[in-house]
Amino acid sequence: MNLILLGPPGSGKGTQAKMIAQHLGIPQVSTGDMLRAAVKEGTPMGLKAKAMMDAGALVPDEVVVGIVRERLQKDDCVNGFILDGFPRTVAQADALQSNLADLGKSINMVISLEVDNEAVVERISGRRTCPDCGRMYHVQFDPPESADTCGECGSALIQRDDDREATVRKRLDVYAQQTAPLVEYYNNAGLLKSIDGMQAIQTVQAEILQALGC
Ligand code: ADP
Ligand code: ADP
Ligand code: ZN
Repeated sequence: MNLILLGPPGSGKGTQAKMIAQHLGIPQVSTGDMLRAAVKEGTPMGLKAKAMMDAGALVPDEVVVGIVRERLQKDDCVNGFILDGFPRTVAQADALQSNLADLGKSINMVISLEVDNEAVVERISGRRTCPDCGRMYHVQFDPPESADTCGECGSALIQRDDDREATVRKRLDVYAQQTAPLVEYYNNAGLLKSIDGMQAIQTVQAEILQALGC
């Protein structure tokens, strides 16, 4: 199953992608996680990307398209993958389609998480992230068992640099202008499945699995 999770920042893409990945035994492919790993390693690409990420802007299409193309060729993607945070522009979606066609693959379903703007700001400002395993928490909606410590790997949780309120508003503008058109793009392609992302994490999860027929 080759899936895309679409939705504004803070809609729950990462949270849901991790759960579906475990359930189906296919990898989560998160461009945000891959870019943050490149920033942490201090690669030239990471250094350039960091300034754009901190400003709430998108990294150039050719950079993310290249990262995803390489990632999808890895062995663990043979039985499927879940794209989380990619594509984010129509140009990325077109490039994805042509790169998948080269591999003899295509997207089976696009799950769109629908969440209103106020909820998104609340979710992102309370988000805490594990810098080591990428698991995310929420101070109120999905708190770690012991304060500020990742329940999966024991690392100290952090707040992402781009999760501060001013940057969040900028990211929402970017989403509305550059990414939201993909809802219609994939609806026209007959691939879109919309899910009410305002519901509790477990309810959203159950509806996604139902949509996938599992
Ligand atoms: P995205 O990957 O779309 O940016 P995340 O999965 O990181 O979103 O979720 C953003 C924040 O909201 C996290 O702190 C997460 O714990 C929390 N969250 C995710 N889904 C829900 C939900 N259905 N209800 C309440 N909070 C949620
Ligand atoms: P969120 O989980 O809040 O939606 P991500 O972790 O997916 O955020 O992305 C964080 C930042 O990384 C984005 O604001 C953007 O700067 C960059 N980024 C991630 N994915 C892409 C992409 N597909 N195209 C361009 N920039 C991206
Ligand atoms: Zn962790």
